[in-house]
This record gives sequence, C-alpha cells and structure tokens, in this order.
Amino acid sequence: MKRIQLAEQRVASMVGADVERLQALLDLARALLFHFPQRAVAVALEAAALASAQKDADGYFDAMHVQASGSLALSDLDGADAAIEKAQAAALGPAQGARVLTLRATRVQRGGDLARGLALIFEAMQLWERVDAALLFRSAATHNIAGTLFAQLGDYPGAIEQFQLALDRVDHNVDDDIYGVVSNNLGRAHRELRQFERAEEVLVAALARFPDDDASFGRAIQLVNLGMVQVEAGRPAEGRRQSALAQQIGAAGGYPRVVAAAHHTLGLAFQGEGDLAAAKVEFEAAMRIRSEMGERIDLAETQVCYAQLLRELHEHAAAETLLLGLIGGGSQATALVRARVDALHLLYQINRERGDLAQALDYHVAYAEQNRVLVNDASALQYQALQERYRHEQLMREREAERARGAAFEALAHTDPLTGIPNRRFADAHIDAAVAHAKATGRALSVCILDIDYFKRVNDLYSHEAGDSVLHAVGQLLQSQLRDGDVVARYGGEEFVVVFSGASVQQAEEATVRLLSAVRQHDWSGRHPALSVTMSAGVADISSGFDRAALLAAADTALYRAKAAGRDRVARSG
Ligand code: GH3
Ligand code: MG
Ligand code: MG
Repeated sequence: MKRIQLAEQRVASMVGADVERLQALLDLARALLFHFPQRAVAVALEAAALASAQKDADGYFDAMHVQASGSLALSDLDGADAAIEKAQAAALGPAQGARVLTLRATRVQRGGDLARGLALIFEAMQLWERVDAALLFRSAATHNIAGTLFAQLGDYPGAIEQFQLALDRVDHNVDDDIYGVVSNNLGRAHRELRQFERAEEVLVAALARFPDDDASFGRAIQLVNLGMVQVEAGRPAEGRRQSALAQQIGAAGGYPRVVAAAHHTLGLAFQGEGDLAAAKVEFEAAMRIRSEMGERIDLAETQVCYAQLLRELHEHAAAETLLLGLIGGGSQATALVRARVDALHLLYQINRERGDLAQALDYHVAYAEQNRVLVNDASALQYQALQERYRHEQLMREREAERARGAAFEALAHTDPLTGIPNRRFADAHIDAAVAHAKATGRALSVCILDIDYFKRVNDLYSHEAGDSVLHAVGQLLQSQLRDGDVVARYGGEEFVVVFSGASVQQAEEATVRLLSAVRQHDWSGRHPALSVTMSAGVADISSGFDRAALLAAADTALYRAKAAGRDRVARSG
C-alpha cells in the first residue's frame, strides 16, 4: 500500500505531460495491479495515451502490458485480448516478445486450453534464452505461469521447479508483490503434494521477508496459505490464528480476495475444531465476497465446503438447494467441472443418508459420468501437455548440442594441431584483449617469445618426426609450467609466445628463466640418447604504451640478442 501511496503522490506532484509523468503513471499502474486491477487498467490507459503522444514505444508497450494483466485479473477477456494485440504490435526484441507470449499463455489458460498455454510458455522460455541478464527478472512471470500450468495438469513437482525458478528471478528490491504471489504458489504446490512441512518452510520464509507490522498483500496471502497448510496438516487451531490475522490485514488493506480466502480457511479451521456454527458464519462470509466479486471458481470451492458442512449439520434441504445450483452451470472450465463432480457426489451421499436410494442412484450415475469426463479431459490434456513438454525438451537438447558443437569448433579453430596448445590466431586475439585491458586498468602486461635453439639440427640429425615430437613435448611442457591466467601459444614453426598478464618485465623474465630450465632439464633421451633441447627467449612489457605489433617486435629484438649472446638464455627488451 505504501508503494501505491508513494506512486500516487509522485503522479499528483507532476503537472504537464512530460517523460517523468509517463514513468510515474507506469509505476503507479504496476503498483496497483495486484491490489486494484480496475484502477491499474485506468491508469495504464492514461499512460498509453501519453506514451503515444510522446512516441515512446517502450512506455506504450509497458502500458499495454499492465492493461492486459489487469484485464486478465478482472477476467475481462475481451479487454485482455485487445491489449495483448496492441502490446504485440508494439513489442520489440526478445524480452518484450517473451512477455507478450506469457500474457497469451495466461489468457488461453483462463480459457482452459492448457496445452496451448504450455506451447506458448515454452516459446517464451526460448526467447528468454536470448535476453540480456539484466532483464531476466521479468521472466519470473513466465516461470510463474509455467508453474501454474503444470500444477493445473497435476504435475506438482514440475510446478515446484518452475516456481523456484521464478523466485530466483524475482528482483526482490523491486517487486514484493510478485515475490509474494510466487512463493504463495510454491507453498501451495507443496501443499497439494501433502508436503506440509516443506510448504510451511516456504511460507514462513516468505513471511520473514515482510515486516511484522506490515499490512501488505504479500504478507496477507502467505498467512492465508499458511493457515490452510496447518488446517490440512491437522492443526486447525494454529490455522485459525494465521487466517484470522490474514483476515484482519486483508480488511485493513482493502484486499477483498484475501479476506474471502481467509474466511474460507477459517471455516475449515472451525470445522476441524468441531465448532460448526462458527464455520458456517465464515463460509457464508467467504461466499458473499466471492459472489460479489464474480469469482466463480473460488465461489464454487467454498460452496462445496459449505454444502458439506450443512450435511454435517443435517440441514439436508439447504445443502441440496445449494448443490443443485452448482451442478446447473454449463461451464467446461476444469475447476468448475471439478466442483460439479464434488457436488454430485455430495448429493448422492445426502440422498443415500436420507434413504432416497433411487435419487441417490441417479446422482451417482451423473457423478460417475461427470467424473469420467473430468478424468478423460484431464488425461487428454496431460497427454497434449506431455507432447508439448517433450517437444520443448527436445529443442533444448538440440540447442545444447549445437552450442557444444559451436564450442568444439571454436576450440578447434584456436588450437594448434601438432602441439595441442593455442595457436597464433588465439594468441593474437588474446594479446589484443590483454593490451586493451592493461591500458584501461593500468595493470602490467608482459609477453615473451621463445624459440628452440638449433632446431634445424634436430630435424636434420634425427628426422622430421623426431622434430615434431620435440615440438609437441615443448608445447606441453611450457603449458604445464604456467600459472593460471598466463597463456602460451605456438606462434610459428618452433617459436612460442607466452602472455604474462599482470606481470612486470622483471617478473616475466624470472618466469621465463624457469621455463627455459624446465625445457633444458627435461629428459629428452627417450626420443634419442644424444638429444638435448634448449630455448632462447626475449621478454618485453607494455610499459612503453605498445600495441601488439610493437610489443612482439620488442620481444623479438630481445630474442635476437639472447641468440647472439650464446642461446639458452633470456634477454629483456630495452
Ligand atoms: P636458432 O637457434 O637460430 O633458432 O636455430 P634454428 O635451427 O632453430 O633456426 P631456423 O629458424 O633456421 O630453423 C627452424 C627450423 O624449424 C626450420 C624448420 O625446418 C623447422 N620447423 C619449423 N616448423 C616445423 C615443424 O612443424 N616440424 C618440424 N619437425 N620442424 C619444423
Ligand atoms: Mg626460429
Ligand atoms: Mg630456432
């Protein structure tokens, strides 16, 4: 609520139609979204008009995004469709593309088409792969919807994975609302798996993020959910306390949906404690709010619980009237079909208890029929969803293989085949980058060129193959002697380059002395009893502001001096 108030104040303090006012309106619209979607839509419309006038494509996209989300929250599907089309037309780049796909997935999910929802969500996930890390926090919504879809398909472990991903993505500093919604969903998925301890852990951890005196939406929904977990785990008294707190916060903050959920949970808690009269009052309160809000699915959920309570109270006539209303609806939405199945089963039980066996049988037949439809629909959906998932995973595997092939190709293009160490191409790119880095940071940088002494003789005396094998051994030997961060490459025939990052010319010289003695002391007799190998080296550093060519030329000049001075030694440039 504080966020909404602050955003409102900022909008109010701005006159005219400047760029800042547009941002303030967008902030306000986003702050309102989870609490007052109707107002969020109105503010988003104003923002959209302003963005059009300012020709601000991103602003317009964000405004349409809020408008679509708000319309979805209000179950205004036509409004959502129109806003989604406009957002789509304004979308630029993969992040906005992924956000539109996420909206579409949410939209078709509302229509009950879970398989299509999944297809859209997987498409969105593929787009997120191409998005800059800084923008990835926006993909939390995509994973959240993916989790919701998986949960609806009964795949709770899959849902948990997605909710967890969404939580990892949420920018906690920016969006408590989304954080609250996602951890609430996560807790709920654990609850469905009857992992009550885990559910409690998730919800308690989420609660810890909201201060105790906080009257926020996020805190309130965690409390309701926690209350529900405790009731289901067989601790109705605890559940009642959490729900009562949630109910208070919801009432104070003006979150009718939370208040209704709290009443519903309180009803179950009282019922669990055996206080059926109190339970009745709570369910009635929940039904009143849910019916006023037009929340048909939630209303049906409470009605089924209420009818069950009436049955326990032996108020069969009242229960029956309520249930007959429930089974009358023709909606094919899965949640409502489920409520109808529950209602038919209750009607069967009530009539059986009353002794009206003929009527009971009729209800049982209807119940079995509806249940079969539900199960068939569910398995057809699950099958389609599984196909979507298979396709997505296949695609991801192919991408991964492609990436691996790319990396392997890259490595090949940068490797010298004879010695197995980096080649000249790699060395040049590495030196260029190292020079740029050194110039930018002021860090030291040295390079060294090493050349095998009298290598022609090795070829002439022992064979070209022996020469090759010496080159291979020298390459491996040099590489094995280097510290992390230093790089050796075969630069030419029997010439190697070492790049010492962060090293002064002195340090590079000392390191090179060690390299030369490693080569000299290596046991070469395995190749030929009389074979010995030494190298000469020249070292130069970046201090004189050299680029790659100048740096290498300086090292080469030093190398020439080392050769001239008798070989098997290192010389330093300057
Ligand atoms: P210096 O001490 O002055 O460097 O004498 P050097 O004999 O090493 O110098 P030079 O540059 O005259 O000879 C280099 C020789 O390295 C010539 C060439 O046959 C040999 N060589 C270059 N590449 C390869 C290779 O890939 N395999 C083999 N076996 N020999 C190579
Ligand atoms: Mg040479
Ligand atoms: Mg040589």
